[in-house]
Amino acid sequence: MSRSRNLSFYINQLTCRPEYLGEIRDAGFSSVCWVDSLEWFEMDLPHRRRKLAEARQLVESHGLAPLDYHLGTTGLIKQGDEVIATDVLAQRVEELQGFGIVNLVVHLRSVFGVEDADLLPYLDERGPAWLDDLLVEPLRAAADLAGQYNMRIALENIPHPHRRSVRDILEVIALADRSNIGICLDTGHTHICGFDLADEVRRAGDRLFTLHVHDNLGLRDRHLMAGLGTIDWPGFDAALDDVRYQSPIPFEGIRGIDDDHRLLHTAVIVWRAMERIDADR
Ligand SMILES: [Zn+2]
Repeated sequence: MSRSRNLSFYINQLTCRPEYLGEIRDAGFSSVCWVDSLEWFEMDLPHRRRKLAEARQLVESHGLAPLDYHLGTTGLIKQGDEVIATDVLAQRVEELQGFGIVNLVVHLRSVFGVEDADLLPYLDERGPAWLDDLLVEPLRAAADLAGQYNMRIALENIPHPHRRSVRDILEVIALADRSNIGICLDTGHTHICGFDLADEVRRAGDRLFTLHVHDNLGLRDRHLMAGLGTIDWPGFDAALDDVRYQSPIPFEGIRGIDDDHRLLHTAVIVWRAMERIDADR
């Protein structure tokens, strides 16, 4: 174990409030990540840009930096019985330029408005290559635009066939062939799929752009605070060292202690303790 990594915390439009941001900073986080909320989709573009500008100002005035933005779309949508490609992802990149965001996180091989379970028959029947053919051009267009604004696109593993492993993500990355497309490894999703988290980190290598850190007992995606589940965190930290991961550690939607103040502080205290545990047991 080497250093204290910078920690980041996921907020949304509803939790981006002064008192809460102060708590996040005081607990020891240095940046925040943002996730689209449902209300967000109902706002028009000028309204969203105004809200984002306000949010950034509020975040920075509390001594926090923006880090990642978790988007709810890859640009693919279902129309009737068919899935079609749109330029929505590039539009979102355009909308988000200027807000200091490093990584735009999107779920691997997802279709807007289609639940994971409903996508499965399509993927099983037609194979992932069918979806990849559709998504590769919008993904490249969005990545090229993101590159102009110094942003990267990070594809996230989902606990679902064809979408759950680093290998699945690397297939899409190879196809898209852009240096600013990488991986957002969700630790909880990896764990419930039964993969060894440290192996997946090493497999991702320098394509590991960012993370979603949360814990579980290997069964349900419970989004527990790291330490309350059964993930080997010191082993994970050692693997991050091996791939020279330098970015912050974003905690995504963590639960396990009801009181916000105690949750934030305990999550950091436990994380720091785990950083100091030697992984070579
Ligand atoms: Zn996630």
